[in-house]
Amino acid sequence: MQMDVFLTSPWIPAEWIRAHGLQPRGIWSAETFQHGPWPLSAGVCAFAEAAVRFAEARTNSAVIFSTACDQLRRGFDTAILRGQSRAFLFNLPATWQTAAATQMFRSELERLGQFLLAIGGRAPSPEVLRQDLLQSSRTRKRLLESASASSPRGFAEAVARFHWDGAFSPLQPAAPTNHIPLALVGGPFLAPHWKLLDEIEAAGGRVALNATETVECSLSPTFEFEAGANHPFDVLVHGYWDNIIGVFQRPNTRLYSWLKPRLASRHVRGIVLWHFTGCDLWRAEAQTFRETFGLPVLLLEASGEPGAAPREINRLQAFVETLR
Ligand code: SF4
Repeated sequence: MQMDVFLTSPWIPAEWIRAHGLQPRGIWSAETFQHGPWPLSAGVCAFAEAAVRFAEARTNSAVIFSTACDQLRRGFDTAILRGQSRAFLFNLPATWQTAAATQMFRSELERLGQFLLAIGGRAPSPEVLRQDLLQSSRTRKRLLESASASSPRGFAEAVARFHWDGAFSPLQPAAPTNHIPLALVGGPFLAPHWKLLDEIEAAGGRVALNATETVECSLSPTFEFEAGANHPFDVLVHGYWDNIIGVFQRPNTRLYSWLKPRLASRHVRGIVLWHFTGCDLWRAEAQTFRETFGLPVLLLEASGEPGAAPREINRLQAFVETLR
């Protein structure tokens, strides 16, 4: 049986894990990722802390942390201290406009490859990687094509499935409604939070754009082969590195460039900024979103309960009401 390799960020290439004969899994798609209230240590991001606890409990699997934020970086140190010997810290450069940053990303993939071999992976064959990239690209494209027409919940579930086992789940078109189109933007969106999409509908809104980092944004890597001339590893490097839409990047203008046309084409009238307790990275964008897009922004905090906490639902209802 293939060993599971859990990824804490969609910007760590799952295709590279599969090419080593191991099974990549988006940690956010795991049903057992977090049950019940979030562990809330003072100042610690609830998602990062849950990732540490998950890693601690899954010593027969590997967990890849990233340096996308200090919280995950510290989470890696803690996971090692708590006995997870198959943890790896993937250095995701925050800067992205220089050749040195691209080279660093490439080197990190090579270093990750060494780690995967050390835990029992096999040396990747270029042809296996090429086939996997083509398959992944097709699935990402099909999901993206369904994004605006599918039910918000069906789409979130289908993307979570893709990050779990790479599969494509056919999507049903959503019934037309006159609900107010909203964008949900922010940190990881987990299975217990899917109910929030129903709660938004019940409040009279509809998530026309799910730009949380594990849903539509996460599908942005794309793999182009030009007349068979490219080496699959180069295609993998550029497919990710040229298309990361991360709040952690400096500058994070690619996030804004990605959002702008989608907010317009989906007629979005308000932004729900979804963030975990302790996540300053996403919270800090609220004012810039307001100023850049000229849209009202509601900050909504992820809780350990399915959907949103009751007090957050009241705020959500009031927000939608003001947009009528
Ligand atoms: S939610 Fe924010 S603080 Fe938490 S791991 Fe993600 S970026 Fe880091």
